[in-house]
Amino acid sequence: MYAYKCDACGELHHPKHFVCRKCGGTDFTETPLEGEATVLTWTKVYNLPEGYMKPYLCFVIARFDNGLTVSGQINSEQPVTGQRVKAVVGVVKEGVGRDFYGFIFEPAQSVA
Ligand SMILES: [Zn+2]
Repeated sequence: MYAYKCDACGELHHPKHFVCRKCGGTDFTETPLEGEATVLTWTKVYNLPEGYMKPYLCFVIARFDNGLTVSGQINSEQPVTGQRVKAVVGVVKEGVGRDFYGFIFEPAQSVA
């Protein structure tokens, strides 16, 4: 699995973009994503836009073992800071007709 990091501003893209959605840069570095990451911080988001099937979603900021820090959705109702998670790339809903691909994390092991 790879992410594409904008050489100009560091914004990560997946799948590959030809123009950076943040700064408009066109040079990217392919960055391999190690399978597991560590949760740095997390938040629950209520009042989701129309199109979500859940009352809230959890989002985390997680750091891969190679130092790359990304944000994504997590399939857990109670993430824990420092928790090991596994990244997959999937469809993240952002309202009706606005699905896009993003990171979705799963707990790497069950938390006792
Ligand atoms: Zn950029």
